[in-house]
Amino acid sequence: MAASIRPRLISRLAVVTGGGSGIGRAVCQRLASEGASLVVADRSVESANQTLENLSRDHKGQEHMVAEVDVAFRSSVENLLNSIQRRYFQPPSVCVNAAGITQDEFLLKMEEEDFDKVVQVNLKGTFLITQAFSRAMVAAGAPKGSIVTVGSIVGKVGNVGQANYSASKAGVQGLTRTAAKELSRFGIRCNCVLPGFITTPMTDKVPEKVISRITSLVPLGRMGDPAEVADVCAFLASDDSLYITGSCIEVTGGLFMG
Ligand code: NAP
Repeated sequence: MAASIRPRLISRLAVVTGGGSGIGRAVCQRLASEGASLVVADRSVESANQTLENLSRDHKGQEHMVAEVDVAFRSSVENLLNSIQRRYFQPPSVCVNAAGITQDEFLLKMEEEDFDKVVQVNLKGTFLITQAFSRAMVAAGAPKGSIVTVGSIVGKVGNVGQANYSASKAGVQGLTRTAAKELSRFGIRCNCVLPGFITTPMTDKVPEKVISRITSLVPLGRMGDPAEVADVCAFLASDDSLYITGSCIEVTGGLFMG
């Protein structure tokens, strides 16, 4: 991970869904290293606690917490927000939506249930979190809100075996742009990162021969590291991106450019 020279998130409270693994965990580490207090939210409290153990506490006043959430359900998202407000007496001003799942199958064989499950977590979950946390930001009158969604390059270009996943991630881009338009008047920015193929437990499931084929197509010649996605999320969370909203930033090593 690139060391930050100037911590950009001192005194900021950030919530990261999917914070117990992969990209979400790397985002938690990066935002904490920049001075933010972190709410590590995941459906597995155990994995969220593992993330918490590794968070740096280098800056005075940093106070992190773990919370269980299933982003696919409104009641669970509301419980998450309430537990944060009880603890910190304010909503987070940074919200990163990294929870996501895959359930791959060829279109001709895909079960309706597996389509619904992926859309429910990746797209509806992003909607529920974005709506709940932006409402709380607006109610608190907190300036400089930043919402980051995690889409995928696959939402732009499609991918064999991922009709459900690519549709959900294309939806995340549309949702982010709309949220950006509606929330800008409240001082809340919304941006999307589009990772390519990043080494995490999610891609550990992909067969080795598929990974080698993909890697051979990446101009930078390798899979990405979760910390490299976290770098972009930290930039979007920070005041270094104050004039950026509604953007979708590719973090792909050049895969599928142009
Ligand atoms: P990961 O290691 O599997 O992490 C995802 C985390 O989200 C896991 O801790 C997972 O818990 C959690 N989660 C899943 N469903 C949830 C729910 N309903 N509520 C709350 N938490 C939930 O995957 P990752 O690779 O870091 O992916 C992070 C995000 O990046 C996802 O949105 C993914 O689609 C996106 N992305 C990843 C890649 C890549 O190449 N890795 C590329 C493009 C986009 P469980 O472990 O219990 O499922």
